[in-house]
Amino acid sequence: MTSCIFCQISKRELPAKIVFEDNHCLAFEDVHPQAPLHLLVIPKRHIESLNELGSEDEGLLGHLTFIAKELALRHPVGATGYRTVINTGANAGQSVFHVHLHLLAGRPMQWPPG
Ligand code: AMP
Repeated sequence: MTSCIFCQISKRELPAKIVFEDNHCLAFEDVHPQAPLHLLVIPKRHIESLNELGSEDEGLLGHLTFIAKELALRHPVGATGYRTVINTGANAGQSVFHVHLHLLAGRPMQWPPG
């Protein structure tokens, strides 16, 4: 989907600070970081939100989570804890309609989230 900014980042049509890539996913720095470490881990395939996931995508979601863990633990602030978030739909605040997992670390986090 060419109008999707995360597809464009994946295809290098838009700039981003990419920190990891494999056959299935890409991780890059969030342009408006909400913590000292704020990465987005996305599938390369365009999927609008968790609502569009099929049963065949269960492994893909596990892979995104695994990569987020690897990236967190490889970063100096990851050892003190990190949060992973996937916003789905308007009430959750989803603003980019291409599945992405936020990885946030480097500061104390509040619960419940706002
Ligand atoms: P969400 O609100 O959960 O859909 O998260 C979308 C995230 O994408 C936000 O944290 C934005 O700051 C981030 N974002 C939007 N455009 C870009 C971009 N071009 N490069 C990196 N991050 C972006």
